[in-house]
Parts: sequence; structure tokens; C-alpha cells
Amino acid sequence: MLKVKNIHFAYDKSSVLEQISFSLNPGENLAIIGESGSGKSTLLKLLYGEYDLSQGEIFWKEEQILGPKYNLVIGYDFMKYVTQEFNLMPFITVEENIGKFLSRFFPEEKQKRTEELIKVVELEAFAKTKVKNLSGGQKQRVALARALAKQPEILLLDEPFSHIDNFKKQSLRRSVFKYLKEKNIACIVATHDKNDVLGFADEMLVLYNKNVIAKDTPQQLYRNPQLPLIASFFGEFNSINGKIYYAHQLQIVEKSELKGVVKSSYFNGESWLLEVEHHSKSVFIEHEKEIEKGTKISFLAQHNIDH
Ligand code: ADP
Ligand code: MG
Repeated sequence: MLKVKNIHFAYDKSSVLEQISFSLNPGENLAIIGESGSGKSTLLKLLYGEYDLSQGEIFWKEEQILGPKYNLVIGYDFMKYVTQEFNLMPFITVEENIGKFLSRFFPEEKQKRTEELIKVVELEAFAKTKVKNLSGGQKQRVALARALAKQPEILLLDEPFSHIDNFKKQSLRRSVFKYLKEKNIACIVATHDKNDVLGFADEMLVLYNKNVIAKDTPQQLYRNPQLPLIASFFGEFNSINGKIYYAHQLQIVEKSELKGVVKSSYFNGESWLLEVEHHSKSVFIEHEKEIEKGTKISFLAQHNIDH
């Protein structure tokens, strides 16, 4: 089990993270979310032992994770970390990059394992391509496969699908997270993309103002966001009479106390997002069709509208 006990950290004088505590079981998927600059990458680096903590302790099972002050070589065999930069070897092929981390003593095993990993990241067509000739998203996938090569017990992923195009993203997420569950590999995913989280994370941890402000299942936080910051992670939302409503929880009706004037309609795929002026503020309403600018409407705010 990963145990993070009251850690504090500062790069220089001003602190970045304070009083961070949480734990994670083997095989579990934890998402770390927060705005840009909230300390997600820093937290992953601390978990990897890249910096010395100002205060607190980190353990994986019985082993304490220590920073460079105590460890000559950064990193541990049971833990792999895929950074936002990848650090691949450009002049050798995809399969060679992955194979570099596998034992040379069992060539058949090595070949089989390399093929398996290439399949997980959906790069079969590029196995023999030199890494320098790959796109950013393809490099990101090689970095993922390489991190998995040695079967870590825990994997740290920093915005792992950020460079991958939308055509591939969802299928790749399913493939990677399914593989991690099958192999009982714990993972911590730093992200600001809800699609990395919904359907995959067992729990999410929300960083704000140096602290953990929430830790719960995605279902719980989605249904009961408590804070605007959490609601904004999941989608367009509104604060009405002190309560938080997602755009799909507002409904246009014939008559209501709540009134507004349509300012814009944005096509959203399955529906339209209407921007409506209400008490000189914008309110966002999901609606099945476009409504002409300037139209006066009434709407209801309900948490139990079925969709
Ligand atoms: P996130 O990954 O959530 O965007 P980071 O962990 O990268 O956030 O950054 C958290 C804060 O720490 C930011 O204010 C950032 O400017 C600062 N920071 C990050 N890396 C360094 C560094 N190497 N030296 C000094 N400050 C840093
Ligand atoms: Mg980051």
C-alpha cells in the first residue's frame, strides 16, 4: 500500500504542497486533479523520490521513498514514472526502446513481451519505426509501454494522454487502464481531463491551494461537487441560489420564477449549450435545439432531471 503521511514541500521559500496525506491500495487507480500550477506534477515527483520532502513521509509497503539527499540513484524498481517529457532514445526503433528494459537472456520471452506491450499502446504498425520519426502522441505511447515493460507495482502517469489525438484517445485509455487492472498495477494519474478519470479512477484527489480539498470516488464528486472548482472539472456548471447545477440540470419550461434572455447557442454534438443572461450573469443550459438570440425564456433548476 502507498502511504503518504502529512507531506510538505517547497522548491524555494514559497511552499507548493502542504499537509498532503492519502493512501492507495495495490491495483487501484487514483486520479490527481487540479488546475494548472496546483502541484500535480510536483506531487508525482515527490512520490518518485525526485526531491527531498520538507516534512512528512512516503511509504510503498514497507519501503520508505527517499529523496536525493538519501538516495544516490533516483527511483525504485517497483515504481515507474512517465513524465510529461518522455525521455526516449530517438535513434532506435519503438520495439528496441521498449526491449531495452527487458532481459536479454530470454530472447523469446523478450519478443513476446515487447509485442504484448506494443499492442497495449496500439502501436503495432510502428514497431520497427525509429522513435525520432514518430509524432508526439506516438512517442507518448512508447513511453507508456516502456514504463510497463518491467511490470512495476505502481505507475505514476503525468497527463498520459495529453499528446494523443481524439481519434485514438478513448480506445487507448481503455486498453492501458484495463491492462493495469489485469496486472494489479496501482496507478496515479495527474490530469486536468475528466475523460482520463471517469470510468477508470477508483478515487480522485483534488488539489487546491497547496492542499487536498477532496478525495472520493468520481461518482460521488460528480453527483455532489460541493465546490465550483470540482464541478468545473466535470463540465459547464452554474451557481444558482447558492447551489451548483450542471448545464443539463437546468431545463427550459413554459413558466418559472427563473428567467433569462438567450445570448448564444453552441452546438455540442448531442445537444446545444445555451448561454442565457440571468440577473446580468451568464447561465449555461443544455437544450435539444438552438434558440434564437434575444429570446426570453424561463427555466427550472433541478438536481433530479433524468437524461
Ligand atoms: P501542475 O502539474 O499541477 O501544473 P506543478 O507541480 O508543475 O503544477 O507546479 C506547481 C507549482 O510549483 C507552480 O507554481 C510552479 O510554477 C512551481 N514549480 C514547478 N516546478 C518548479 C521548479 N523546478 N522550480 C521552482 N518552482 C517550480
Ligand atoms: Mg503538470
